[in-house]
Amino acid sequence: MLQVFTDKISLKDFITGVKKNKKTLGFVPTMGALHDGHLSLIQQASNECDIVICSIFVNPTQFNEKEDYDRYPRIPEKDIDLLKNTSCSCIFVPSREEIYEQENYDLIQIDLGELDNILEGKFRPGHFSGVVTVVKKLFDIIEPDKAYFGQKDYQQLLTIRKMAAAFNLPVSIISCPIIREKDGLAMSSRNLLLSDEERKFAPTIYKCLEEAKDKLKIQTIDAVQHWAREELKKSKLVEFEYFEIRDARDLSKIEQLQTGMKIVIVTALRVGKIRLIDNIVINLN
Ligand code: AMP
Repeated sequence: MLQVFTDKISLKDFITGVKKNKKTLGFVPTMGALHDGHLSLIQQASNECDIVICSIFVNPTQFNEKEDYDRYPRIPEKDIDLLKNTSCSCIFVPSREEIYEQENYDLIQIDLGELDNILEGKFRPGHFSGVVTVVKKLFDIIEPDKAYFGQKDYQQLLTIRKMAAAFNLPVSIISCPIIREKDGLAMSSRNLLLSDEERKFAPTIYKCLEEAKDKLKIQTIDAVQHWAREELKKSKLVEFEYFEIRDARDLSKIEQLQTGMKIVIVTALRVGKIRLIDNIVINLN
């Protein structure tokens, strides 16, 4: 039966029991408004671990805009109902005070290098400090063997790997593929906030990524980036942020494509008021 915890002391008791029984623990951190993308992480965790814990916490420190935080969808009862039909064993739904004991939010200090300054780091100042802080706090409470993150938030995945390595945490960070709607739009809790017109436009983002992948076979990186940026900017709904073809290891710029390289095409833009991100990873053969 699914167990729901709101405080870390009771959760810790549960975890102590799990560890005593030598069961492996898989952890899926989320901000709720769950969709099939989240459920795929839970499925993968349950394929690989004995016990799966999912957390639902809309983390205030990773929002660089108050409006985005305020309007973020919060449907915990619906989420809990949804999780009852999955292989998730336990949900942790803490209050803000349970995670951040002081009003002034104690962020962990860690050097994320360029990852903190480029792409998402540039457009969302302070975002990754908030992300690594909350994930570190949750790891400290849960002490998972494996933690599951979506490739959808590609840069987040890299920062979490960096944080786990910096603190020598004994947890494997597992990357899971992006789950998409039938029309290609990457699933996201924020999709709920799109108007009909915006929702109709949104699959264009994935179409551009796929087309860029094809074009890269015959055109230069600069030409493809330029094409995609112009294509996305055509819609009056769009406030464009970036479309970049980068080295998948660290999101650094690429001088020239070479066989054997792993690259990632990352993009972010606002459709109306809603900020959407997406990416595709490509192995160059
Ligand atoms: P969030 O609730 O948006 O913080 O996401 C929680 C986790 O689910 C993160 O690791 C995300 O990368 C992952 N995730 C979100 N959307 C998707 C998706 N469409 N496919 C796969 N994973 C996703």
